[in-house]
Amino acid sequence: MDIKIVKNTNPKEKPDQSNLGFGKYMTDHMFIMDYDAGEGWHDARIVPYGPISMEPNAIALHYAQETFEGLKAYRTADGGIQLFRPEMNAKRMINSNARLCMPPVPVEMFIEAIEALVKVDADWIPTAPETSLYIRPFMFANQGQLGVHTSKKYIFAIILSPVGAYYANGLAPVRIMVEDEYVRAAQGGTGFTKCGGNYAGSLIGQEKAERLGYSQVLWLDGAERKYVEEVGAMNIMFKIDGEIWTAPCTGTVLPGVTRDSMIQVLKKWGYTVREERLSIDDLMQAGRDGKLEEVFGTGTAAVISPVGMLAYKDEKLVINNEEIGELTQKLYDYLTGIQWGRIEDEFGWIRKVQ
Ligand SMILES: *Cc1c(COP(=O)(O)O)cnc(C)c1O
Repeated sequence: MDIKIVKNTNPKEKPDQSNLGFGKYMTDHMFIMDYDAGEGWHDARIVPYGPISMEPNAIALHYAQETFEGLKAYRTADGGIQLFRPEMNAKRMINSNARLCMPPVPVEMFIEAIEALVKVDADWIPTAPETSLYIRPFMFANQGQLGVHTSKKYIFAIILSPVGAYYANGLAPVRIMVEDEYVRAAQGGTGFTKCGGNYAGSLIGQEKAERLGYSQVLWLDGAERKYVEEVGAMNIMFKIDGEIWTAPCTGTVLPGVTRDSMIQVLKKWGYTVREERLSIDDLMQAGRDGKLEEVFGTGTAAVISPVGMLAYKDEKLVINNEEIGELTQKLYDYLTGIQWGRIEDEFGWIRKVQ
């Protein structure tokens, strides 16, 4: 792919690495390319980060034809830059796009664009412990038209943000509210895709949870509100009586790269992993019986997020005294070890950028 590069002549000052937070700062450049039906992808370019102009009647603004991805670039101790399983993100975006009637970005093109942009903004990759460069590829329908039809024009763009640990208070366990009113996804819907619409529809649950003092929502299945599915932007795993349970990816759950990686690591360590439906009643009962040993969310942003409390209807279940579990900590150390190049990558997950 031919990528034109226009350097930013007015670079920003880099933020303080000890207080990056998540997604607050953007780097100096962005990648953009255009798609027109009949012509395909064209005009790939890296340009100064800034506003994108679009028609007020662009389809994305009215009918939410939009998808995105999320991954990170890591700075290793020897000054190298590496990505973690970027082809998984590329393939997932192809699947998301197919569901939303959007054209695919071929895997190699997706990775090439990311690598080119990360190299241009390499100075932005933070070096402090637990920091990384978050990469946000996204695509939206850019044809101006109010009729409800699939767009003939798209923009694929990538923006970058230096990030710290996802939660300000580190790996401290979070309190989660089980949502029994609203639903996130239903069979036949878009639950398995990373599309903005899924998030728009779940904000109300997130707001409710925050109002009641919880940091995230645990969503139940859309048909019966009976089976546990996933958290706002994370998959979730339960250690019950020594075995690991997580919802199967059968259409309503986002197939997380972190989820898949954890499952492979757990199996290698000899754990039984059950990708099976688990009812909220059985989960709460396991907690009452003292069999719910650990609960943790998995996702690129936080890697692993220990869960210290589950609130369902009037019951508050405390997990592991609201302390991080042994296995949770071990998984976090192992996966982040591979990502930052501190541990040998036995799985072939790392892709070196330089
Ligand atoms: C992105 C996302 C995840 C986590 O996926 P990763 O590939 O592990 O980052 C889980 N659930 C939802 C709804 C998501 O959008």
